[in-house]
Amino acid sequence: MNEYDSNRIYDLAKKSNYKKTEFVQDADCYILNTCHIREKATEKVYHDIGRLKKEFRHKKKPIVVITGCVAQAEGDILLKKEKYIDAVIGPQSYHQLNNILNEIEKNHNKVNFTEFDVIKKFDTLNYLKNSGNDVSSFLTIQEGCDKFCKFCVVPYTRGAEFSRSDKEILQECKDLVDNGSKEITLLGQNVSSYGYKGKKLSDLIIKISSIDELKRIRYTTSHPIDFDEDLIKIHGSLKKLMPLIHLPIQSGSDKILKSMNRKHTVEYYFDLIDKFKKINPSIKFSSDFIIGYPGETEKDFNDTLKLIKKVEFINTYSFIYSPRPGTPAAKMKNIDSLILKERLVKFQKLATEIKIKYKKSLLRKKCEILFENRIGSGDRFFGRDEYFNSVIVKSKENLKGMLKKVIITGGNQNTLFGEVLSKMKTTEFAA
Ligand code: SF4
Repeated sequence: MNEYDSNRIYDLAKKSNYKKTEFVQDADCYILNTCHIREKATEKVYHDIGRLKKEFRHKKKPIVVITGCVAQAEGDILLKKEKYIDAVIGPQSYHQLNNILNEIEKNHNKVNFTEFDVIKKFDTLNYLKNSGNDVSSFLTIQEGCDKFCKFCVVPYTRGAEFSRSDKEILQECKDLVDNGSKEITLLGQNVSSYGYKGKKLSDLIIKISSIDELKRIRYTTSHPIDFDEDLIKIHGSLKKLMPLIHLPIQSGSDKILKSMNRKHTVEYYFDLIDKFKKINPSIKFSSDFIIGYPGETEKDFNDTLKLIKKVEFINTYSFIYSPRPGTPAAKMKNIDSLILKERLVKFQKLATEIKIKYKKSLLRKKCEILFENRIGSGDRFFGRDEYFNSVIVKSKENLKGMLKKVIITGGNQNTLFGEVLSKMKTTEFAA
């Protein structure tokens, strides 16, 4: 979502006659769009500012603006502690950017703008054509969260759930497709809870899929309890909807899920997976995991290992639990850090084995790749298959923006290699 926000922030800044520069030293204005989801987010801001100060030691200081969730959560402290910062702007108020830049340029005032003004934000953005032109683009359709998982800052930094109007989203999709996008990922902190005047995520996806030149649709991130029958059903009928579902579960233990306030059990999760598989057996899953949530015993952790073995996620994102200030879980007793690290290593070892087994199973298989860009100035092109796997092929023809059938000829756990032509040639798979 920060990538989407950064692009929109740039669309706004252009209105004040700013344009992007390749080199930091050339900047008149430096905007740092931050994420607060992991530990040490604020320290990273200070670190970045430190680097910036060095760059501008002998030059006129640029305007320095901190946007995003760190600005929302710790804006006052940032402004007080680091005089180099001119403004902090929350993720729901960045539509005010031009007014704020104007205020700083003219009056040199410090600004802290962290209102939850999400309706006004999208009202402003709707009048500003999205200039993004990536082959694969992000599009925010929903923001905020009402779930209040005990470890998470999102309900406090992004605010309550808000869904954009389907008409506005459709128009922005069309704009992106006109600019050259072939794939759109619909974004929301809780995207599966999208709802606007009776329209659900499934209705929106069906509507968007009618755009001819749009070839692929994805959505992320979902909460397992928000999937309804219609959303599951379109995974069996809509070819443009990609067969990878990111379905965060965080833990394989019912006790921990309850303590996290995740609002579902492991059994419910397995049932949901079965429903998807029934409707479309080729669907695969990825997920997020928090290792060592307060109170996690060896048994709870082993239940998580059992779960990843059973589901065979083709991708997992795992992190050691880190308390986020202001969340209920931050008051709970943490597990010994050595145990946490051991568990993470164990988890990631198993997750990697599963992933490598899956990647090896793709050798000599055909897949469809949407090519996103040329690598450097050479003859290699980067793209992704239906399951979001990274694939690199060599080609004399410029493949950017094209959908091509590719045969996988080799790879490693992160990247697959292939050939566009149907001639089969197999190389080694490096584990
Ligand atoms: S559902 Fe996701 S965004 Fe919402 S509180 Fe839980 S982890 Fe955070």
